[in-house]
Amino acid sequence: MKKCPFCNKNNMKSHEILHEDDNHLVFFSKEPVTVGHTLVIPKKHIKSMLALTDKETDKLFELVKKTARIIHKTLKPNGLDIGTNYGRIAGQSIDHLHVHVIPRYKGDFTFLQIVGKNLSPYAKVLKGDEIKLVDKLRAAFA
Ligand SMILES: [Zn+2]
Repeated sequence: MKKCPFCNKNNMKSHEILHEDDNHLVFFSKEPVTVGHTLVIPKKHIKSMLALTDKETDKLFELVKKTARIIHKTLKPNGLDIGTNYGRIAGQSIDHLHVHVIPRYKGDFTFLQIVGKNLSPYAKVLKGDEIKLVDKLRAAFA
């Protein structure tokens, strides 16, 4: 667990945290596939949603829905991918449950390119612009 980047407080200080409550964090992905690619995690170290209690699942996905609404309202993408990967074969790269909220824009790329790690050059070009969005999104969570 010590090596888990999402449990490492020093590592998490380098993330753009959009929202935090007692049990969850919402922050920008460090490997964004589009502008606004956001992760929602429980603070509790757990590998997948299969191990969550029903109450924990409810709380996590209430926050996922809130995050999706805020991303959709603020960034105005054409759609959203919302999902979580369990196991290497499914594309899980960090063994701490995280739910992706990925804004999708016309002409970006396919979901298979995301899980295949063929990151869109489009995301890298616009990555700097994400920083400007942090304050706007943090305010929306308030
Ligand atoms: Zn962890």
